Amino acid sequence: MNIDLHTHSYYSDGLLSPKDIAIKALNAGCNFFSLTDHDTLKGLKEAKIYAKSSNLTFINGVEISAQHNSQPIHIVGLGINPYEKLLLDGLKKNNQFRVERAKKISEGLGKVGIMKAYEKARTLSKTDYVTRTHFAQMLIKEKICSNMSSVFKRYMTGKKPGAVKGEWASSVDVINWIHQASGLAILAHPLRYKMTLTKLKRLVKDLKLIGLDGIEIVNSFSDIEDIRVSKMIADENELLYSGGSDFHGWAGQKIELGNIPQFDYGDKLVINYLR
Ligand code: AMP
Ligand code: MN
Ligand code: MN
Ligand code: MN
Repeated sequence: MNIDLHTHSYYSDGLLSPKDIAIKALNAGCNFFSLTDHDTLKGLKEAKIYAKSSNLTFINGVEISAQHNSQPIHIVGLGINPYEKLLLDGLKKNNQFRVERAKKISEGLGKVGIMKAYEKARTLSKTDYVTRTHFAQMLIKEKICSNMSSVFKRYMTGKKPGAVKGEWASSVDVINWIHQASGLAILAHPLRYKMTLTKLKRLVKDLKLIGLDGIEIVNSFSDIEDIRVSKMIADENELLYSGGSDFHGWAGQKIELGNIPQFDYGDKLVINYLR
């Protein structure tokens, strides 16, 4: 079983078209694949058209930016109805914040001498959608930083010049939108939030109480220990298992679509529960 339930196209912060993403999924021999762009459903139609094959099932997905208390988190919606109004309206609100935030990031970078950051980052986006990844790629292109992780460390997080506090939708709202759209709500990359294990367990327990359906057990960088911990947290909360590469297609990222560590999902695989 080859699954990849977390990927990005150029409709959010990926580099490739939904068509090219779908072709990658076919070539990688995926059996189940989902396009999960950040806060947008625009690529789904195209991906679905090109993912047609008897061995491959395409699943409508989205990765929604959310706040739980003050912690920014990502919640993947799988098997969503892309015409559900509540979901579409919610994503629109998130993207209004994204536009305001991009301007604030640009102002912050301006204060340390990086001028016209918004305009420059925008040229790297094929849509009017500007994410932190576009700012990061711009700073790499301008040779201000050498790689993504140094950009985030030096400019985009904590008290750094391009860091802006989140005002994403609440976790309760996001899970509700996904459920209204008949989808399942999955906590993305649980080990990437830089939380202690105690805090992470608390977070997952809280999210379960408000309807979380599953968590990602495996991503491109998971080692045996990561998988063990993620599975333990899922089991403690009776949550389903998901897995995905988080492929974006940018140069220098050691990630391949459809190529994540093997894991025996058994009957807890989220795919079995899609409505
Ligand atoms: P945004 O949705 O605009 O807040 O951008 C978040 C995106 O930036 C994530 O989905 C990742 O693709 C990327 N990102 C966040 N943190 C890092 C990091 N430390 N290194 C590389 N990419 C990151
Ligand atoms: Mn991303
Ligand atoms: Mn994410
Ligand atoms: Mn992602």
